[in-house]
Amino acid sequence: MKNSVRLWRPVLGAQRRAFSSSARRLDNYAFIGLGQMGYQMARNLQAKLPPSDIIRVFDINKAAAEKLVQAMKTQQVGGAAVQVARDAGDAARDADTVITCLPEPKHVKAAYEGILSAYDALQNGDTRPQPRLFIDCSTIDPTSSRNVANAVSTALPDGRGSFVDAPMSGGVVGATAGTLTFMLGAPQSLLGRIEPILLRMGKRVLHCGPQGAGLSAKLANNYLLAIENIATAEAMNLGVKWGLDPKVLASVINVSTGKCWPSEVNNPVPGVVETAPASRDYAGGFGIGLMRKDLRLAMLAAREAGAELPLAEKASEVYETAEAEERCKGRDFSVVYRWLGGKK
Ligand code: NAD
Repeated sequence: MKNSVRLWRPVLGAQRRAFSSSARRLDNYAFIGLGQMGYQMARNLQAKLPPSDIIRVFDINKAAAEKLVQAMKTQQVGGAAVQVARDAGDAARDADTVITCLPEPKHVKAAYEGILSAYDALQNGDTRPQPRLFIDCSTIDPTSSRNVANAVSTALPDGRGSFVDAPMSGGVVGATAGTLTFMLGAPQSLLGRIEPILLRMGKRVLHCGPQGAGLSAKLANNYLLAIENIATAEAMNLGVKWGLDPKVLASVINVSTGKCWPSEVNNPVPGVVETAPASRDYAGGFGIGLMRKDLRLAMLAAREAGAELPLAEKASEVYETAEAEERCKGRDFSVVYRWLGGKK
């Protein structure tokens, strides 16, 4: 129902539209999942869309949507008109492009059930000028993602809807600055349509292959990161216990073969890298809970592919037991160094 949504159009955006001579048609967007990442991504998308477009936002946490609309109101520049939707189906019903950014597979499944049931109700009345595009930026496992893709193509047959996966890296800092990197799993034919949308929220789109491939690449990378982080914490702890100065040790590793992102950028020893979370009591950064989740997803996907991950069980145990301790919970995943009993 149209009156179920509230419309806010920025004043400057409306002015821009009045002076626009372009006959560009209106594009409708839905953005579902306004958490730490989605909130910032939706804000960037809205700000960079022309005022002729509409973006409808939804989160099961109503306060998140309200807060976002307030933030958009206070922005200096215009952007697309914003509507707060009643539920996922309501957000997506009129959308050409639906973007989802949700925590886990069960949330993605639930949101798409809501979205697709809204299209069921339209039946033959679903006559969009272009096929609907669904971009899921959540980090989930490739099989769950493929199941949702199949549900979309069953509900919207004959190419009337395509679901693609675009998990991202860059964290909340990258989402806020609009500098995310997206790992895209999509047919080549859709790249021209997807890239400009993602580049409003990020600076790089890496096309990894067909649907599901973005998630495979993301999980393979995060598996490697999970292991490197623990190994760096162990090696730094070992060196410090042997009496080495941690800054000296890091400088040796970082010009040697052990060099990796955790040793160079996100060093787990407080004070070694001033800008790393370790130097601010492990606040911010990539949460240990997210690392644990991504590792479990990688293990699930590896089992399905028949790929051996001999280090995975131990690594998973490390993250789980560390996260269960109050001094580590909710902190950057490099807090594993503290859990190991590493000296400051
Ligand atoms: P978050 O928990 O902060 O936000 C998720 C949001 O989804 C919440 O606001 C929640 O209320 C909402 N939600 C849950 N179920 C919903 C539903 N059915 N319909 C509508 N809204 C629903 O999570 P986040 O940190 O924003 O992460 C989102 C995704 O991005 C995750 O899959 C995460 O792994 C991935 N990711 C996160 C980071 C990061 O640094 N936070 C980095 C890269 C990737």
